[in-house]
Amino acid sequence: MKVYHPIQELEATGLVIAGTSLRHGGSSLTPYTSLNLAEHVGDDPNAVAANREIFFQQTGLADLHYCRQIHSAEVIDVHEKVPVTPDVTPEADALVSAQYGVTLGIFTADCVPVFILDVATPAIGIVHAGWRGTFARIAVNAFTRMETRFGTLAANCHVHLGPSIQKCCYTVSAELLTQFAERFGSTVGNGTNLSLQAANINQLIEIGLPSPSISVSPFCTACRTDLFYSHRAENGQTGRMLSFIRLNLEN
Ligand SMILES: [Zn+2]
Repeated sequence: MKVYHPIQELEATGLVIAGTSLRHGGSSLTPYTSLNLAEHVGDDPNAVAANREIFFQQTGLADLHYCRQIHSAEVIDVHEKVPVTPDVTPEADALVSAQYGVTLGIFTADCVPVFILDVATPAIGIVHAGWRGTFARIAVNAFTRMETRFGTLAANCHVHLGPSIQKCCYTVSAELLTQFAERFGSTVGNGTNLSLQAANINQLIEIGLPSPSISVSPFCTACRTDLFYSHRAENGQTGRMLSFIRLNLEN
């Protein structure tokens, strides 16, 4: 059984394996049915461990780096030797790397997973962009860190916005929508329906990312709870998908 939805736009470069896990084929029970990969949502830890084993076995991935997500705009370069207490997951909402074999991952259930691939360096980034992170321009922060650390140029980047809640299902207060429209332009929504995807796209285009290099998943998580978890559609009690990206081995 397929355990993840691949991102063809990124995998077609031959440089990475990248995708978002699907919710079936695991051992978690309702409301986490069934391939929940996150430990922090109240699911049985044994079920999560078994699910991760299935996922890593099926994908061949290893050396997963992730962070304790706090809806911030913080970015971590996984190779920077930050003095951290062992076994404490660093708090942030984005990860970047230029090393082969290292898997970067973030967990979502409606928030936008933003994948960044610099095809020239090459280097990778992954971002957890909910409304707070999107509003604080976390995707731009991740790109800026790649620029500083690896010399990444916007013109060499491919960006993909993975399965996430889309405008059809994402209603917010009129006040919040107005704030988003003021910051990212009127294309971010209408009435009380907000497009986090448009807000992320607009902020990336603003810093020079070519719009043809940005792709968006056709899947709205709230519309497709048969495939993905949706925090909104499942009243806040559900599992999480893992979105991941890894540079292929040098050949
Ligand atoms: Zn929808």
